[in-house]
Amino acid sequence: MQTTSRTFTIIKPNAVAAGATGNILDRLISNGFRIRALKMDFLDRNRAARFYAVHRGKPFFEPLLRFMTSGAIVVAVLEREGEDAVEALRTLVGATDPALAAPGTIRHEFGESVTRNAIHASDSPENARKEWSHFFSDDQIVEVDYQPSI
Ligand code: ATP
Ligand code: MG
Repeated sequence: MQTTSRTFTIIKPNAVAAGATGNILDRLISNGFRIRALKMDFLDRNRAARFYAVHRGKPFFEPLLRFMTSGAIVVAVLEREGEDAVEALRTLVGATDPALAAPGTIRHEFGESVTRNAIHASDSPENARKEWSHFFSDDQIVEVDYQPSI
């Protein structure tokens, strides 16, 4: 059986508002990710603070909460062949600061600033699972694969 691994992403409010959702999802899919769960959502302050609890107390925490509660987001559980879904997504997403993100990365194209950086990508398999559980229950992750009928 093929090994697969999973990660979690958020298309952030600036990218959703810019109409980039489809383009970003297309890039994820064309770079080998399958979508296992997907929805549009909106974070109020309490949910955003819980999601970003690890950053509480940092100077960018309040601006980050204001930004993440400024509009709709799109959240997804992603899967790919192999064991490196987390690393592969972070490579595709690029550096936190879009000004430093390599050409071809999602943040290079859609990021506007270090806060308004278009997309979130989990930094470990453990954090990915924790993060997607803010948005999806286990039974909302679709594990059925296409079986073409003859
Ligand atoms: P993400 O977790 O969103 O994928 P990341 O792992 O590259 O991004 P973190 O250090 O986890 O970066 O920071 C979480 C988010 O907080 C960043 O994506 C960015 O929106 C914001 N952020 C981080 N550092 C700064 C900073 N120095 N100034 C402003 N905002 C920041
Ligand atoms: Mg992070």
